[in-house]
Amino acid sequence: MDPAKRASVGVRSDNRLEEQVKDWLRYGEDLGLGPYYRDRAPLHAIAEATAAPLESQSAAASSNMPVAAAMAAAAPGRAPGAPINVAPSSASQKAASAAAMKTPPAAPASTILPAATSPSLFEAMERIAGDTLQRIREDIGDCTRCKLHKARTNIVFGVGNPKAELVFVGEGPGRDEDLKGEPFVGRAGRLLTQMIEAMGLRREDVYIANVVKCRPPENRLPEKDEISTCSPFLMRQLDVIKPKVICCLGSCSSQTLLQTTQGISKFRGEWFDFRGAKLIATYHPAYLLRNPPAKSEVWKDLQKVMAYLGLQPKKR
Ligand code: URA
Repeated sequence: MDPAKRASVGVRSDNRLEEQVKDWLRYGEDLGLGPYYRDRAPLHAIAEATAAPLESQSAAASSNMPVAAAMAAAAPGRAPGAPINVAPSSASQKAASAAAMKTPPAAPASTILPAATSPSLFEAMERIAGDTLQRIREDIGDCTRCKLHKARTNIVFGVGNPKAELVFVGEGPGRDEDLKGEPFVGRAGRLLTQMIEAMGLRREDVYIANVVKCRPPENRLPEKDEISTCSPFLMRQLDVIKPKVICCLGSCSSQTLLQTTQGISKFRGEWFDFRGAKLIATYHPAYLLRNPPAKSEVWKDLQKVMAYLGLQPKKR
């Protein structure tokens, strides 16, 4: 790009941005997402297009916002702070969500990945023909793609029925999960199992996975680079399983999949469309352990899932 023009459009940290884009492209190729990236606008056009709404990029780049969300927030053709890219399922929800999903402006931008020209990374991500859970696990391999690999004991891929109608998505493994290599086996996991059973299901009827597959040290929140590195594998898992309902547990998974920075309390219990499935977010079981009165809210959300899937509550 011509340096004068670059200055005039106010693009910051171009070299770093381009390096990040190249890394991202390489990573996309690794994951078999080449066609998605190939079909996108040339790099300089993306940089120019994303340079203008710097305020919205700043918001996206700040705090713990997932990279995919940052990408979507800077998307050309998508107004800064516009609603997320998944459609709530009714007109009233659309209105509520449009209000709920406004992205607040925040701290100055450091760097940001270019935005997708299409609605969102996840909506645009092509399904990999013939993909299987086994192939995804093999592709993950003995992963060292992000810093979480350094302290992990086991990769926690996911567990359950590969044809499940209902998938629960958590944040990332904790200590017990890291040791066992299975999601949701600690205290929060036992509560999740109780929730599943209260819905008239067994744990093995559903599929359970996390946004990141390695334990964040000290159980901290996964960071945005870790989320952006790992979440494409979750997307592939969801594409292979093709559940009717995805139930996001807590902020991390719901904000990642819905590409929003809004607090979960603003949109939990609402239905969204997500790559052919219905998605609903509810509070994380670990939150319920700290705040038991919120269980009634979660039960309301789970009852919506049960009604949608035609499930009867467990007989006492
Ligand atoms: N919390 C999560 O989000 N996932 C797990 O697997 C365990 C606890």
